[in-house]
Amino acid sequence: MKKITNIATKTILLLGGLVLGLTGCSEDDDANNSEVIITSQSLKMDLSQFKKEDAGVFMQAFYWDVEPKGEWYEVVGSKIEDYAASGINRIWLPAPGKGASGGFSMGYDPSDYFDVGEFDQHGTIETRFGSRQELENLIQKAHANDIEVIADIVLGHNSGGGLQANPFRGGTEVYSLFNEVNGNASGKFNRSNEHFHPNDLHDHDEDNLFFAETDLCHDQQYVQDWLWGRDDSVAEFYKNTLGFDGWRFDYVKSFAPKWVKAWNTKIGGFSVGENFDGNQQVLKDWVDASGSPAFDFACFYRLDETLDRAKDLTALGDADNMLRKLDPKMAVTFTANHDTEKDENPENRISYGNKLLAYSYILTHDGYPTIFYLDYEAFREQLKTLIQIYNTLAVGDIEIIEASKDEYIMKRNGDGDNPGLILYMNIGKQSKQRTVKTNWANKTLVDYTDNSRATPTTDAEGNTTIYVPAGSYTVWSVAKE
Ligand code: ZN
Ligand code: ZN
Repeated sequence: MKKITNIATKTILLLGGLVLGLTGCSEDDDANNSEVIITSQSLKMDLSQFKKEDAGVFMQAFYWDVEPKGEWYEVVGSKIEDYAASGINRIWLPAPGKGASGGFSMGYDPSDYFDVGEFDQHGTIETRFGSRQELENLIQKAHANDIEVIADIVLGHNSGGGLQANPFRGGTEVYSLFNEVNGNASGKFNRSNEHFHPNDLHDHDEDNLFFAETDLCHDQQYVQDWLWGRDDSVAEFYKNTLGFDGWRFDYVKSFAPKWVKAWNTKIGGFSVGENFDGNQQVLKDWVDASGSPAFDFACFYRLDETLDRAKDLTALGDADNMLRKLDPKMAVTFTANHDTEKDENPENRISYGNKLLAYSYILTHDGYPTIFYLDYEAFREQLKTLIQIYNTLAVGDIEIIEASKDEYIMKRNGDGDNPGLILYMNIGKQSKQRTVKTNWANKTLVDYTDNSRATPTTDAEGNTTIYVPAGSYTVWSVAKE
């Protein structure tokens, strides 16, 4: 797949970009007035009292070509307590099995699903991420901190087998032989011609694009049995032996959604599918067919279009143009992932200057938000604040108050004692203010992001003026009594 061809130097460029991005954010008109800062801080409610029952956000705990090789599980392990304190309830780890490119593999060229860093093959014992023991240590540490661990699962194709004459291809040799001496040292789920396309059942399934020679055939009972059916299947090994809690299904366009449903019915756990498609109805159809949540690529592309390309937020107010607007409980929102961040095409990633605006959107709306590892490293304090807001005040119905070129204002109506919030995004070059009708009568308001130090008060009808700096966002709720 195209994922394999990228090189490590991009990571360096990316990290350079992060540093530049940092200097461009969060300027404030009255940032020098420390007395005002202290006043607005002391007006904030203790948000922990509003913690939602389903509080928690997702962390993609890797990026493309993570370094140093063989140590990634330990790197992530060192951050678990901080993730837990920030309100992260699940981490997504790279595909754990040994790939054809051994110690260089990012896991998307699966050869031996059962070699998670303990067999000497493809030039290495450890995977790029570490040893089996280090993986199990990380999972245990995450569990001790109430964080679930999600495995990246690559079911579409295999790589790294031995050559074999293929009768379904008129005898042509194909790299479809996986056994103890051909890329499958574990000896579990050995594979041969008939487990790939074409075979005795059919020529191909829904995917005929990538890895045509070693495109796994899930219609073969043997393949189903080894992936999720048997007591010692891949899925059972990952869940019951290694301790993984759930699944991120890679590139689900390459096989039928019914296989995700079958895996989840048998094994259970949280799951999310990577259906790389910006059309919300395509995502909704897949979610309905698989029964699994999906990454909301429609939301991602609408954010990129409005923030980066059109520089016009109006479309954020349109109906039904994201999966989360069609089916919020099945939408896993995100602003970046390992693919988008290495994409040379700016249309496929959200620029660093707009990254926090994008996070302010996904961390106040419905859907299950994902934080990307490198973004958390770059914007830790701002993201901690937004995650806390998501885990507490981001409840209740969504009302869009304003969606125009520079401004987007959205109200969450709260629930019971939870007052909800108002998000104010501004991509203009000037600070803005707007009179809005809130749900709060005769209250003082505070911006819980600290991007504005204003403390407006509402009248008896809930009307007040809220503020936002240029190129920034604010999140308003009531001050403590
Ligand atoms: Zn098939
Ligand atoms: Zn972009």
